Amino acid sequence: MPEPLSPRELLALDRQHVWHPYGPMPGRAAPLLVESASGVRLRLAEPVEGQDELVDGMSSWWSAVHGYNHPVLNDAARGQLGRMSHVMFGGLTHEPAVRLAKRLVDITPEPLEHVFLADSGSVSVEVAVKMCLQYWRSLGKPCKQRLLTWRGGYHGDTWQPMSVCDPDGGMHELWQGVLPRQIFADAPPAGFDAAPDEAYAAQLHELIGRHAEELAAVIVEPVVQGAGGMSFHSPGYLRVLREACDAHDVLLVFDEIATGFGRTGALFAAEHAGIAPDVMCLGKALTGGYLTLAATLCTAAVADGISRGALPVLAHGPTFMGNPLAAAVADASIELLLSQDWAREVKRIETGLWEGLAPARSHAGVREVRVLGAIGVVQLDHEVDMAAATRAAVREGVWLRPFRDLIYTMPPYITGDDDLARICAAVCAAAREG
Ligand SMILES: *Cc1c(COP(=O)(O)O)cnc(C)c1O
Repeated sequence: MPEPLSPRELLALDRQHVWHPYGPMPGRAAPLLVESASGVRLRLAEPVEGQDELVDGMSSWWSAVHGYNHPVLNDAARGQLGRMSHVMFGGLTHEPAVRLAKRLVDITPEPLEHVFLADSGSVSVEVAVKMCLQYWRSLGKPCKQRLLTWRGGYHGDTWQPMSVCDPDGGMHELWQGVLPRQIFADAPPAGFDAAPDEAYAAQLHELIGRHAEELAAVIVEPVVQGAGGMSFHSPGYLRVLREACDAHDVLLVFDEIATGFGRTGALFAAEHAGIAPDVMCLGKALTGGYLTLAATLCTAAVADGISRGALPVLAHGPTFMGNPLAAAVADASIELLLSQDWAREVKRIETGLWEGLAPARSHAGVREVRVLGAIGVVQLDHEVDMAAATRAAVREGVWLRPFRDLIYTMPPYITGDDDLARICAAVCAAAREG
């Protein structure tokens, strides 16, 4: 065993050597040191603001839907570990990957039939873009190589995904001029329940038609734009995209990395619109937050098109493609989700969030409170003071990670009513003090 390091030593080394998401180097804000996690609770290595445990309001960025240290997922991981943690996927295959792929095909919208297992959400978006561009290349239309999206989106931090993130409000403004130049429609008008705006729908249709010759695909996050601004829109616009893409020979990609596996109240957000994309990306909650894994699904038509090209293969193959450990846990996580009345739990959380976040409405500095499924958002009329807001939440015994003008939560589905009330109180406190 290596010599144990004290919390103070760990934090000093962390600051000196370790990059954190969207962080400077050396680090400035001290991260909280987590020792273990169980259920909906993160256990800290030393108390902070008088708390040695925090209720997790973030599900580790949308992923830990069943909470931490779950016996069923632990068993799946241990069982697979005893057989093999990993083998290469070139020329070899294995039960966990095959079972998972079959399950994903079964539960996603009907025409999605083929599965590419990648190792992170961003890579699954890269693969989706590659599929679409290669499809048109194979069909003798190499000029169809651009993407269209609406503003306010987020699709990951690697190159192609960055090019379709929000070009202004996002983290990737720095790269304008270096990234591939894509086509942007206005952000969809807000409101899940709002009647679709005819003029906006017409604008989408017109823009897709005007650029059809150069467009490989339209890519959007259906119903919820996550890291781009936590906003919700009418599923009606997804039907508009589907119609326009069909009319103008453009592929449609749904990035369901954040929305997949029940978060919005439907198993996949596409179901709110009753339509299917040609390509779909999944990640985040895929393994219940245990391991990194993502999937890109496509229709038989897309796969057939690619196979008809001069290079009749999809030339992509990550070293850890189809990782058996991650695939086994993902399969167990989906089975666990479907074995319970997950929709009722998400509905229960939705009701609890509406009730618990209502007081924030009357706070000075709060612009809007919105809830959809197990997602609760308080939007301020100013940039949040991250340090103050985080401290206010920790004082309430809750872990939150606000950004921009947003304090939000998407708790694990197993969060009980008392813990949910606590999360809501923390969001309100963070909104007041941030
Ligand atoms: C998180 C996210 C990604 C990127 O996934 P990573 O696993 O972080 O690479 C892509 N699209 C959406 C919608 C996301 O929420």
